[in-house]
Amino acid sequence: MLVVQKFGGSSVADAARVMNVARIVTETYAKGNDVVVVVSAQGDTTDDLIEKAKEINPGASKREMDMLLSAGEQISISLLAMAIEKLGYPVVSLLGWQAGFQTNSKYSAARIKRVNSERISKEIDKKRIVIVAGFQGLNRYDDITTLGRGGSDTSAVAIAASMRADLCQIYTDVEGVYTADPRKIPNAQKLDEITYDEMLELATLGAQVLNNRSVEMAKKYNVELEVISSLTQKPGTKVKEVCKMEKMLIKSVAKDDSVARVSIVGLPDEPGIAFKVFSRVAKAHINVDIILQSVGRDGTKDITFTVPAESGDAAVAALQEYCDQVGAKKILVDTDVAKVSIVGAGMETHEGVASKMFEALMDANINIQMISTSEIKVSVLIDKAEAERAVAAVHAMFFDN
Ligand code: ASP
Ligand code: MG
Repeated sequence: MLVVQKFGGSSVADAARVMNVARIVTETYAKGNDVVVVVSAQGDTTDDLIEKAKEINPGASKREMDMLLSAGEQISISLLAMAIEKLGYPVVSLLGWQAGFQTNSKYSAARIKRVNSERISKEIDKKRIVIVAGFQGLNRYDDITTLGRGGSDTSAVAIAASMRADLCQIYTDVEGVYTADPRKIPNAQKLDEITYDEMLELATLGAQVLNNRSVEMAKKYNVELEVISSLTQKPGTKVKEVCKMEKMLIKSVAKDDSVARVSIVGLPDEPGIAFKVFSRVAKAHINVDIILQSVGRDGTKDITFTVPAESGDAAVAALQEYCDQVGAKKILVDTDVAKVSIVGAGMETHEGVASKMFEALMDANINIQMISTSEIKVSVLIDKAEAERAVAAVHAMFFDN
């Protein structure tokens, strides 16, 4: 069997953890599997490197930032390879470019174009365990690129897809995907299985376990993923196309509290306004999530939408001139908000799921500012200070008894 195993920064944070990973990898290999390992930078290394750069030049170019940040993974792959050598197994570490990662040229947020896995295959033919630096690749100018924060998950899935691996295991410091964040909700349950679509919603809605691009890629290439703990190695959560039939209405409650709500008050109530507003936001490369437009009254209307917290001010900047021009009264930004969501394919076939969520929030006396839904999720925007209470109330409504 060909197994791809990915270990995040916390799993390789110090020497003892690196040795622990070496044991997991070599056990897998000793069972007769071919093993490709992808690792992230140790612990907070990536954040520390970003701080170092800021001390020297807060406006550093993205190319140089990628050159710097890719160093974090160079440290962890070599240390892990040394740990495996110490255990007496054949091993080789490879940087992203050596492992064949070709990306586009968008520094700091590069997309993988292809993985030319020839070198990895050759090393596997020599019966070596192959350790690959996650999060990095090479563009067509032979410059180092990085894939965006948390990008190592995507590196692992890309290798698994290009080599048609039998399994891609994502090792982390939690035992899998839970019905809510187990650090906040003590009776949260670990899920045995979740669908790609559910996982994609969850990853996008604030669950930290998997990078959403990696899930997107796993779905596209049908890579079977497993989220599993590097500390306990108990069976984790399998992410796949379809799950066994089960009674669960929803799979998980997620919270995202890095959200900004932007409101434009007093826009003209006439055709084309939404286009004029959102084309400006899109031009500024800002991702819009929930959108709400009020009913027109006395010739004006309001448009409210949410964006990532860090994009709030940029959204205002993108809209100010237009709003002045059409005489809108004001633009407001509020970052004291949070998005709480429920996700589950079960709601496609069961009625009353959304209202059950709203009932839990009513009972907890929490006001809903905005609502958005898809086939398999319901999100509400609420006051940030109430977010944890909201997650607890909604989780209890669906999972207690
Ligand atoms: N080291 C990178 C980061 O911290 C990539 C990763 O962890 O996946 O974002
Ligand atoms: Mg990291």
